[in-house]
Amino acid sequence: MSTPTEQRSVTVLGLGPMGRALAGAFLDAGVRTTVWNRTPGRERELVARGALGAASAEEAVAASPLTVVCVVNYDASDTILRREAVTTALKGRTVVNLTADTPARARSTAAWAAEHGVRYLDGAIMTPTPTIGTPAAVFLHSGPAELYREHRPVLDTLGGTHTHLGEDLGRAAAYDIALLDIFWTAMSGYAHALAVARAEGISARELAPFAQGIGAILPPIFEGAAEEVDNGVFSGANNPLTSAASSMAHIVHASEEHGIDAGVLRAAEGLARRAIEEGHGGDGFLRITDILDRRRKHR
Ligand code: NDP
Repeated sequence: MSTPTEQRSVTVLGLGPMGRALAGAFLDAGVRTTVWNRTPGRERELVARGALGAASAEEAVAASPLTVVCVVNYDASDTILRREAVTTALKGRTVVNLTADTPARARSTAAWAAEHGVRYLDGAIMTPTPTIGTPAAVFLHSGPAELYREHRPVLDTLGGTHTHLGEDLGRAAAYDIALLDIFWTAMSGYAHALAVARAEGISARELAPFAQGIGAILPPIFEGAAEEVDNGVFSGANNPLTSAASSMAHIVHASEEHGIDAGVLRAAEGLARRAIEEGHGGDGFLRITDILDRRRKHR
């Protein structure tokens, strides 16, 4: 589909590793790209590749109908966007904020944008920098569907999969938080496992193929459990909570015998024991979802 020339231009604010990857992908796709970063110097390589380096954030946003922001958090993006000169330059233009933060921060920045005549979409990037510009990239978006459709041709040049999750501006951030919850909890579990394994004389290299096997068990569980969790039915036929809690206790004891902190797993075991005390010992492990989310439990 051909795109009007004006739409094929974009501004990127924030040139950390992710901002630089985004700007690089736009450049590779032939999109006219203007860049700015709080600390000067980060734009050098991009300018050598054809980007336009702006002297200020207001000059940068004035250069394109679409500005993509990608900085460390919403304190940083608010600091940039809410400066009067920048807000004035943004009036009638579109911001896609790909900065990660909480759903509440996304909604409050969206409310600020609406008050100031700034067209606003919020988004989240679910894959690391090397994926940007490749089919492996994953982007989530939320906000007005029409605005998303208007800017999709430029956003699509970032490659990968783009999913519009709805008009609630906090929704992309909400998915981001939930998905990163899985990631960081799994990574802390992996780090703990490596420490316990090492204490038992097993190297990370030796454990790696088996660790991958454990990782591969998870995707079918995510798929199979979805309906059970949404319907509040937690089948424990194959692995009841009583058995899961016992398995977790072995890990806690083994690690504490080596003087290794088992705090994360102790917390998970504690939730399982609470569910058992409340009479759910025959249910599956995901019953603790309702122990954590009391609103759901009492609905
Ligand atoms: P960082 O999260 O470290 O962000 C660095 C950027 O934030 C730099 O441009 C930095 O500017 C800017 N910044 C920090 N504080 C301020 C401030 N007070 N005012 C203005 N600018 C500020 O690096 P990334 O580029 O990797 O990440 C950007 C976003 O992308 C984050 O929200 C991150 O969670 C998300 N993300 C990153 C991924 C990755 O693999 N890196 C993967 C998925 C999402 P300066 O150079 O001046 O310090």
